[in-house]
Amino acid sequence: MNAEILAVGTELLMGQIANTNAQYISQKLNTIGVNVYYHSVVGDNPSRLKTALELAFDRSDVVIMTGGLGPTQDDLTKETVAEIMGKKLILHDESLKQIEEFFKKINRPMAKNNVKQAYLPEDCIVIKNNNGTAPGCIIEKENKVVVMLPGPPSEMRPMLDDTVIPYLQEKSGEKIVSKYLRVFGVGESLLEEKILDLINNQSNVTIATYAKEGEVTVRITTKNNDEEMALRDLNSIENEIVKILGDSVYSNEDKELYEVASKLLLEKKVSIAFAESCTGGLISSVITDIPGISAVFDRSVVSYSNKSKVESLGVKQETLDNHGAVSSETAIEMAEGIRKVAGTDLGLSVTGIAGPDGGTEDKPVGLVYIALAGKSGTQCKELKLAGNRKRVRNMTTLNAFDMIRRLLMNN
Ligand code: ATP
Ligand code: MG
Repeated sequence: MNAEILAVGTELLMGQIANTNAQYISQKLNTIGVNVYYHSVVGDNPSRLKTALELAFDRSDVVIMTGGLGPTQDDLTKETVAEIMGKKLILHDESLKQIEEFFKKINRPMAKNNVKQAYLPEDCIVIKNNNGTAPGCIIEKENKVVVMLPGPPSEMRPMLDDTVIPYLQEKSGEKIVSKYLRVFGVGESLLEEKILDLINNQSNVTIATYAKEGEVTVRITTKNNDEEMALRDLNSIENEIVKILGDSVYSNEDKELYEVASKLLLEKKVSIAFAESCTGGLISSVITDIPGISAVFDRSVVSYSNKSKVESLGVKQETLDNHGAVSSETAIEMAEGIRKVAGTDLGLSVTGIAGPDGGTEDKPVGLVYIALAGKSGTQCKELKLAGNRKRVRNMTTLNAFDMIRRLLMNN
């Protein structure tokens, strides 16, 4: 089954809003194995809408439309679809009642033209709108399906999730099962190269990669109505991928790196404290997203100046003078210092040059040291990161959690 998303709205064409509806719908269709072949956008113009619709009908089994279901004159999606499909618009009493109730609930008078929203194509499936006035609908004709949804994402999304997706899933008669492997420390192109044989030989399991800042997600998907068999197929491919990528694969449950690292800290009851220079507290901010992390996370010192590195972390002035604040020597003393001050099992420190200024030939922007001190010694990692200040800080944070994860996995 293939689908097309047709967004209606002059605002979209003018660049006033981004077509996030198409993105959202595509993602959802993807998870149920409906292929999306086209995204199109058309303005609030009946003749161009008609042309766009005819084209969509011609090439797609399912056309999902958003926008233009409002009460005003320029909202003409329903009228145009009904005309093309040869359907009459008839008053749907229940929808009218809901629209009236909606206005009562928000304590505002209902305009006369809101009645127009309760007119729906004859013998359609009505999709109730719990967050606005315009109902949506599904029309079937000669193996084709047209879905109309309102434009505002807060209205469209629940209607899609609760009604349209289950409807299409049932109709396609296929069950899709996916697994998401998250990979850190291998770029997308290198990763693809490494698993190219698997990608080229994919049969009942499809493999796709998506890059995000600093990491890659590998999605493996299979269609099978027998869930057990589907999982067996997925697990066997997963094992092959893990064999190739090793412990760069940090999650097979679509978890974030900081979630995986935090879970290990909690499970193994390993306490930790941070000394953050160039991340300015970002690492602590991220880890405190985890409920219950207080069981293992003791404190963080944001240590920006040299003075504070000496005073709060016990870094030697001599080390700063001889090697500079951004050096492995300083990073190591910071990590050992915070571990001692906090009395934790682990101490992690970061120091680096986030830019855009402050770089030199020796120590360019993006140079970062992360040190991790534990009872069996201190390790330090040097990073040479590309990108702007924000990226350098984010990548440093990811790398910090990766170091924690790797240490705990191997112990
Ligand atoms: P309304 O009853 O609010 O008029 P409608 O179904 O007629 O809803 P439109 O008038 O086309 O929808 O759009 C209403 C609002 O919904 C837009 O101003 C915009 O904020 C949002 N919207 C519309 N289409 C999209 C889209 N494709 N992606 C994201 N947002 C959208
Ligand atoms: Mg409108």
